[in-house]
Amino acid sequence: MKLIKQFDIILLLLWYPVIYPNDTLFPSLIIDQNIRVNYTPTVLVYAIDNKDVQKAVKCAVELKRDIVSRSGGHSYEKYGLGGRNNVIVLDLTFVNGITINSEMETAKIGARNRLGNVYNQLNQAGFLIPAGLCPSIGIGGHALGGRKYGLACDSMEIVDAKGEILQVDSILNADLYFALRGAGGGSYGIVTYFVFRIHRTPPQVTYMELAFNRANMTQEYQLFDAFNEVGPLHDDGIALKMRLNKSSLSITGLYLSPRTETLNAMKEFLSKVPEPISIPKFIPQTFYESFETLSKSPNKYEVVNPVHHPNFFKAKSFVVKGKGLTRQAIKVLVDFLNGASCKILASFDLFGGAANVYDSSSSFIHRDALYCIQMESDWEAKDQNTKCTDEINEFGKNFQLNFTSDESYQDFIDRNLDDWQTRYYGNIFGKLVKIKRKYVIQLSSKYPCTGLEKFRYRIIMKYSQL
Ligand SMILES: Cc1cc2nc3c(=O)[nH]c(=O)nc-3n(C[C@H](O)[C@H](O)[C@H](O)COP(=O)(O)OP(=O)(O)OC[C@H]3O[C@@H](n4cnc5c(N)ncnc54)[C@H](O)[C@@H]3O)c2cc1C
Repeated sequence: MKLIKQFDIILLLLWYPVIYPNDTLFPSLIIDQNIRVNYTPTVLVYAIDNKDVQKAVKCAVELKRDIVSRSGGHSYEKYGLGGRNNVIVLDLTFVNGITINSEMETAKIGARNRLGNVYNQLNQAGFLIPAGLCPSIGIGGHALGGRKYGLACDSMEIVDAKGEILQVDSILNADLYFALRGAGGGSYGIVTYFVFRIHRTPPQVTYMELAFNRANMTQEYQLFDAFNEVGPLHDDGIALKMRLNKSSLSITGLYLSPRTETLNAMKEFLSKVPEPISIPKFIPQTFYESFETLSKSPNKYEVVNPVHHPNFFKAKSFVVKGKGLTRQAIKVLVDFLNGASCKILASFDLFGGAANVYDSSSSFIHRDALYCIQMESDWEAKDQNTKCTDEINEFGKNFQLNFTSDESYQDFIDRNLDDWQTRYYGNIFGKLVKIKRKYVIQLSSKYPCTGLEKFRYRIIMKYSQL
């Protein structure tokens, strides 16, 4: 049923690629992942290629209207819909090609591809890229926030604010390349394609899962000690995530090697953690199977054909440096989770490897970090919006002030963050503004477009001729 419904919508959008608020389809097309906030765009424009994107940008310039692009619709603050009402939203649903060059070990990936589909197609050709865990994230917004494990793309095609296509790489428009790789989400133009370096999948990887006693504070400290001390020494191929909420404490992870090597590589860590409350899992899998497991998708079909699971949530992020959280910080965090009136999960993503290697062609600044904490508060109904948002905002402000670095991760975007400029971009913020002035602010409006109705007609004509 769901399949038929989605297919119908896709057909409809191909025939009516410009959707206005009075269209019956419109309300369902502006529901993204986070329903805590919602905005009503002036219009949704569905582009299929660079030319459509160019036309839309030129129209927006002519009409003096703001235009934003939406890839996967996962922005925590709905910036894929502009983060405010009345903008033109250029949706990239149909900019979804993937071309793999096995010899060159590169993949050209359309901005709207969702991660589940990217992993699946690359896997079929025997490759992977390091990226996030949620299958429905769009590669567009995700890659432009500059993934910490060096989601390194070699080049991009971008439609700039004048509607021109620019090729961007480490030589061509190198300043824009720098800005886009870390600070690119919605800021410098609309990226339609990325070319990524891809990596051969290892024949076998190992999925790890360990659960610990949440009720015993001494054991919690012990686990944090192991995470703080041994975590950063781990081999680059190990990724670990610790999860802590009111009732559970666990670690999941992945090592890009078979089980025996994994047990060996994890030996020191395992010797320092407290006694797990169930038998630890070290499961040999293919890389793709491990993604399916880690994604926690309800079924295999949804990994490749992901849909949103809209919910009410607010998230904060903290970058932890030095020796990690102190005992006092852990106690404050645990007390907060125990007493919070809304459901809150803290996840700790261990940094390391490529994440900590400085890269002068990237504006991702969080390099010398131990881990990034994401705290997410979820709730059931709109009438809890204010209470739950205020609760986590208040905690986040004090926790960051007292216990973590000043930095936060821009892909977990948070519009209540004070001094976001420094927290997301540190001392390169001024440079990013200069680059923005160069590429975005000098707009001209000499492009022919008499209004969106004409734009609608022209796009429909295109498909009518097929
Ligand atoms: C459930 C969930 C799980 C997540 N898990 C992870 C994770 O494991 N790791 C991680 O690092 N992050 C994770 N994220 C965060 C995610 O990476 C960011 O929210 C990312 O920005 C989403 O990209 P998108 O294209 O889906 O979102 P969108 O809402 O479509 O876009 C986000 C921003 O990027 C801009 N943008 C989108 N496409 C383009 C484009 N083509 N050109 C220029 N600008 C563009 C938009 O205008 C908007 O400002 C998660 C988010 C959610 C909701």
